[in-house]
Amino acid sequence: MNIEHDITIALTKGRILKETLPLLARVGIEPCEDLSVSRRLIVATTVPRLNLVILRGSDVPTYVQYGSADLGIAGKDILLESGGAGIYEPLDLGIARCRLMTAGPQATHAEVELKRRVRVATKFVNVARAHYAKKGLHADLIKLYGSMELAPLMGLADEIVDIVDTGKTLAENDMAPRELIADISSRLIVNKAAMRTRHGSVRAIIDALKHAVTQQGPA
Ligand code: AMP
Repeated sequence: MNIEHDITIALTKGRILKETLPLLARVGIEPCEDLSVSRRLIVATTVPRLNLVILRGSDVPTYVQYGSADLGIAGKDILLESGGAGIYEPLDLGIARCRLMTAGPQATHAEVELKRRVRVATKFVNVARAHYAKKGLHADLIKLYGSMELAPLMGLADEIVDIVDTGKTLAENDMAPRELIADISSRLIVNKAAMRTRHGSVRAIIDALKHAVTQQGPA
């Protein structure tokens, strides 16, 4: 791959990164150092002029929106929550699939439906607000940063809005999924200005990834 501008791609660390690296390798982009060992935050790649930054998922759209990173890879859950200003989302990479759902203890489901007012703990307050408003339910939203499953067990909330993959975490905490809010996968995102000013380089990366995803299916 030939890149004619300096380009930075912001990647989401953790589970998404594990599925992203094989996909990038398929288009010839490989980090020059072992990301599981290195503490470096900006990492050069085997493609000259192309660097990676490894971030918390919720920071990826921010870096891309402001143009500090030209492209990014982030979960649709994060993109729904952030609102996506200044960002194009040209490609569903089909990786890190999961569901964004409401969930809660089996016993309280009927109560919640009756109350018309529900206390909800979540990291995704904007998505949750829109979901409950659409249902005509008043939701008191409580922002948490992790272990959402704990909130109903401790009496902090009636329900949670969270990511569900196998459902094992919910089941082990005596909870069940309730309503699907959105099917989630990771998306390639692009800064709108970079799409114009660095068109050739950005397009080359989008096209290579599109080809890799459609030729071989999700990584
Ligand atoms: P599970 O027990 O398989 O339903 O996994 C649920 C937990 O894993 C949740 O607490 C999520 O935060 C996390 N998780 C699962 N899949 C993803 C994903 N694709 N992206 C981010 N977090 C995920």
